[in-house]
Amino acid sequence: MRATVMYKAGDVRIEKVPDPKLIEPTDAIISVTRACICGSDLWPYKNMERTDNGRVMGHEAIGIVADVGRDVRTIKRGDLVIMPFAFSDGSCEFCHEGLQTSCVHGGFFGSTEVAGAQAEAVRIPQADGTLFRLDVDKDNELMPSLLTLSDVMGTGHHAAVTAKVGPGKKAAVVGDGAVGLCGVIAAKRLGAEQIILLGRHADRIALAKEFGATDIVSERGDEAVERVHELTGGFGVHSVLECVGLDQSMETAIKIARPGGAVGRVGVPQHGMMPASEPAFYHNVTVSGGPAPVRAYIKELLPDVLEGRIHPGRVLDRTIGLDGVPDGYRAMNEREAIKVMVQP
Ligand SMILES: [Zn+2]
Repeated sequence: MRATVMYKAGDVRIEKVPDPKLIEPTDAIISVTRACICGSDLWPYKNMERTDNGRVMGHEAIGIVADVGRDVRTIKRGDLVIMPFAFSDGSCEFCHEGLQTSCVHGGFFGSTEVAGAQAEAVRIPQADGTLFRLDVDKDNELMPSLLTLSDVMGTGHHAAVTAKVGPGKKAAVVGDGAVGLCGVIAAKRLGAEQIILLGRHADRIALAKEFGATDIVSERGDEAVERVHELTGGFGVHSVLECVGLDQSMETAIKIARPGGAVGRVGVPQHGMMPASEPAFYHNVTVSGGPAPVRAYIKELLPDVLEGRIHPGRVLDRTIGLDGVPDGYRAMNEREAIKVMVQP
């Protein structure tokens, strides 16, 4: 089959690789109908060291089950399924608590250990716990929005949940990438009364406003902090959704939280130390978040997608075939596209 292989920063190729095979009896194989490129794929695209064997990329997909191992019970051939970015057994104590990204038998697609989904097919470990079966046609027009439930919409929702967004609260979203935009949808959905987007790209700002952002702050650093305070009566917001992962964005996130507020971070941290320890301490700011258990959130978010109350698929503003993937990375890296959908 053909798959996307990254060898080093900036070096993404479409290559023939061996077809995925069932390894464990709990595995399934899906034939990928939709995948996408993630903002987090841009970190290795910028920084990855050279490897000889490369890494098969991609952790978001919808596909049709092509084969199942002998211990797979709930998933069968022909099912149309969402593949969350992490696999999980669905039965350990963390899965029961709804934290599938800490599953004791879990892991992540598109990592160095498990091949990714920017490919014609992908092996799914722990198929019963991982895959979510959809009862829609594979060409349903809602497919882009359904695809976002594999990562970005669930991740934006996680940022909102861990930032304790609720009815009447003031929220801010740091970052105008696909996750930040989904964070705006999530904050609105959970009842935030004011939603401030910190971002500076005109096309993304326009979409954020349609999704429910009430204010835009395009300044950075201390100026951004000052601006958010001006917009919130001097105190800052109750809930901050940190959707970038850089030192500066995290520092801003903590500084715009009002005393007693919360920061939910979902941007993959690019540094080992957490900044702004002192303002976080003196303002009693809760800092939470991490890899979103999107598998747990699909059930909650799916009716809103199917019944047209939210349209997260709008963040996918470009569609390409597998051959277009290397250019898709370039386009996202250069901010020419918000998020790219791949139809292998
Ligand atoms: Zn588990």
